[in-house]
Amino acid sequence: MPNKEMLLIPGPTPVVDEIYEALAQETYSHTDPRLVKRFKNSLDMTKRLFNTDGEVFVVAGSGTLSMEMAIVNTVAPGEKILVISHGYFGDRFIPLAQAHGIQVEVLQSQWGKHVEISAVEEKLAEGGFKAVTVTHADTSTGVMSNLEELVPAVKKYGPLFILDGVCASAAIEENMQKEYGHPDYRIDLVLTGSQKAIGVPPGLAIVAFGPKALKAREAMDKVAAYYMDILRWLPTMQDPGKYYATHPVNMIYAYEKGMELVMAEGLEARYKRHAALGKAVRAGLAQYGMRALAPEEIAAPTLSCILYPEGVNDAEFRSKLAEKGMVIAGSLANLAGKAFRIGHMGNATEEMFIKAMELVGETLNEMGLRADPAKAVETFKNVYHEGLGK
Ligand SMILES: *Cc1c(COP(=O)(O)O)cnc(C)c1O
Repeated sequence: MPNKEMLLIPGPTPVVDEIYEALAQETYSHTDPRLVKRFKNSLDMTKRLFNTDGEVFVVAGSGTLSMEMAIVNTVAPGEKILVISHGYFGDRFIPLAQAHGIQVEVLQSQWGKHVEISAVEEKLAEGGFKAVTVTHADTSTGVMSNLEELVPAVKKYGPLFILDGVCASAAIEENMQKEYGHPDYRIDLVLTGSQKAIGVPPGLAIVAFGPKALKAREAMDKVAAYYMDILRWLPTMQDPGKYYATHPVNMIYAYEKGMELVMAEGLEARYKRHAALGKAVRAGLAQYGMRALAPEEIAAPTLSCILYPEGVNDAEFRSKLAEKGMVIAGSLANLAGKAFRIGHMGNATEEMFIKAMELVGETLNEMGLRADPAKAVETFKNVYHEGLGK
C-alpha cells in the first residue's frame, strides 16, 4: 500500500510498505504462541532501544497514555513533581499530574528557548520533589532538551528523571544505563508512542521503567488505576501468552517490523541521520527566508517549528501544499498562523525532503514571493550529506 501523500507532520510519520504489510497479516489469537514470539521479540528490541536494565511495557494507547502511566506509577497523590517545560507537550504534564492529585511546580521556558539550568537547580534545592518531567523534543517548538546538563542537575537532588521521548525515541539517544557524570545520574524512565520517530502507525504506548522507577512503583502498595498499573501488566510483559488485557495483535506485528527496521539501520546511524536531516531541512528552508523558532544549537533533529517570512498566509500555504500531496502542521497556541511545523523523523527519506524543498519553493512562487527551489534543494543535499559524512 504505497503512500499517496508525504505526511511530514510531527507524527504520525510516513509508514513504509513493509510495516503496512505486517499490519495487514492475519490476526492471531492474542495468546497464540506465534504472536507471543513476535511480542517478545518486540519487547527485547524495545529494551535495546533504551538500553534499560529495567522493564518495558507496550500497550494499546497513544503517547498521552504513556505519559500518564509514567506519572501514575511513580508519584502518589499529594507528592510533588517539577515539570520542566519547553512548550505545549511539556505543559501537558501539569493537568495530567493534577488530575491524580499530585502537586505540580513548573519551570516554563519562553517558546524556542531552554529553561535555565540554574533555575532548575534553585528549584530542586528547595527539596521535596519526587520526580522531574522533561520533554526530550517538544513538538510545539522544535526545542530539544539538553540531557547532558539536565540529568546531572536533576539527579544530584535525587528525584526520578522522567523523559517524554514521544518525538525523540529511536531518533535521539535515550540510553537508560548511561551515567551522566556519576553512577547514580541516569534517566529513570522513558515514555514514547509508536507513531513518531519509530515510524509505526499510532496506537501503541511504550514505557521503559529503570530500576529506580520500578522501585518507586513497588513502594506504593496500590495506585488509583487499573489499565495503567504496571504491576498488573508485568506478568504479561514477561510472558505475553498470559492474558491481562487483549494485546493489539496487528499493531504488535507492525511494531515488531518497525523496530526491526530501527535495529537494522543501527541506533548510532539512526541518530546521526536524524541530526543531519534536521540541520539540512532547516538550512534548505532558510534559503526561502524561513527561520526556525529554536536556535540551531538547541533545535530538535526530529521536527522543526518554522516561522513564516513576511506575507505568507498559513492556511493558504498549507492547503496549497496539501493539494500537491505534502502535509505539514500548523503551529500551536500563540504561534498559530505565524509558523508551521514540519516533521523529519522516522522512516521519511531524503527523496521526500528534496521533493518537499521543491514543493515549498513552487508554492511560495505561486503565492507571489520569489523563491529559488534549485538553491534550496542544493543546500538541503549539501548539508545532509555533510552531516552524514558522505
Ligand atoms: C505527540 C506527543 C505527545 C502525545 O502523544 P499522543 O500520541 O498524541 O497522545 C506527547 N509528547 C510529545 C513530546 C509528543 O510529541
